Formats: sequence, structure tokens, C-alpha cells
Amino acid sequence: MTSILKKYTYLLFLLLLPACYAQQSTMQQKDSLKFSNKIVPDTIWREAYVALSHYPELKDTPIEFRFKKNIKKSFMQAQPKVGGLFKNRKNRSYLIFINEKFTIEDEVFDITSVPSEVLIGWIGHELGHIMDYRDRSAVNLIWFGVKYVTSKNYIREAERAADTYAVNHGLGENIIATKNFIINHSKLSDSYKSRIEDLYLSPEEIMVLINESFEETFDD
Ligand SMILES: [Zn+2]
Repeated sequence: MTSILKKYTYLLFLLLLPACYAQQSTMQQKDSLKFSNKIVPDTIWREAYVALSHYPELKDTPIEFRFKKNIKKSFMQAQPKVGGLFKNRKNRSYLIFINEKFTIEDEVFDITSVPSEVLIGWIGHELGHIMDYRDRSAVNLIWFGVKYVTSKNYIREAERAADTYAVNHGLGENIIATKNFIINHSKLSDSYKSRIEDLYLSPEEIMVLINESFEETFDD
């Protein structure tokens, strides 16, 4: 009887060992985070790290991820920090607002219930917006903001630009995961789904983009 008990204790020990190692290695990874000027909440740092690693251009760009309650109509939102808008483009800093809890027609969504690969796609898309903002002057950004809130065509263009940046930075699969999560999620309302379908690239369009970016790499 005791030998069986011993055997089980040993087995349990063996099973727990990799878990301890895994914990240790992620800790080390966090400590050696090679990005500077980033503020990331603990609950999403892994996903932010993976998404950021696809954008070496943003290595030193100041970006703060901040939870916010009730962002209208979306999970996340990227924008330049207003205070630094007129700074030199290189020193400009950005905010990515994230809805910790997200309500669509009385149905509450929680960030922790979103799968990692989907979250990485979402963050990758927001980083795509920042890539787009980086090339714009302050005046252009203000004009961009005005057009974004007044023109549906303009929203479509901006969202497609962000998706395209993400796909070209190797996050195509994650962007597709994000789309499928929205489209297939039974809890999301049809009006939200059709808004997404209207304004964003479809999974099929993203596949075309992924194939194109592969062909380009092949041509080089
Ligand atoms: Zn967007």
C-alpha cells in the first residue's frame, strides 16, 4: 500500500516539475523584456509581448496599454497621446485602450475569456494603427480623427490599413482568429457582427493578403 502511495507521490512530483519550470521561464522572459517605453497590465503582458515582437519598428516607441471602462463599440482603441501630439514624430507616445469588460446588448464579455491567439491578433491590429499614425504629421492626425468620426468609408480605410500592417508583420493567422472569434461568437449581436463585416477585412480577404505577402517574400 505504501509503495503505491510512494509511486503516486513520485508521479505527482514528475507532473508538477514541468509546471514549475514553465513558471520560472516565463518569469525570466518578463524580466528580460527587450522593449523600452512600454506600460502593459500584468493580465495581458504575454499577448502584448508576442504581438510587439512582430513589430521591431515599435521597439522604443512609447506605448501604454490601459484598461478603460466602456469604450464605445470596440474592444480596443489606439490613439496618440494628446499631450505629445506636436512633439517630434519619433518622440510621440501612444495609448491603447482596452475594454476590461465589454458589453454588447446586455451581454458582458471579459478579457480573460478571450483566447490568447485572438488577443494577440487584436493587439497586433492596434499596433497596426500605431504604425499608420507614426507616418502622419500632427495636423494630419487631427484631420484623421475628424474624418474617422464622420465618414464610414474613412473608418473602413483605416481599419483595413491596420489589418494589412498586422498581416504584413506575420500576424495573419491571429487576425483571422480574431475575425472568426467575432463572427462565430454566438453571444455577439448580429448588428455588431455585421458592423465588423462591413468595416473590416473578411477572413477570406486576409487569406489573399497572407498569400500576397508570402509571394513577395518569395520574389525577394
Ligand atoms: Zn481598428
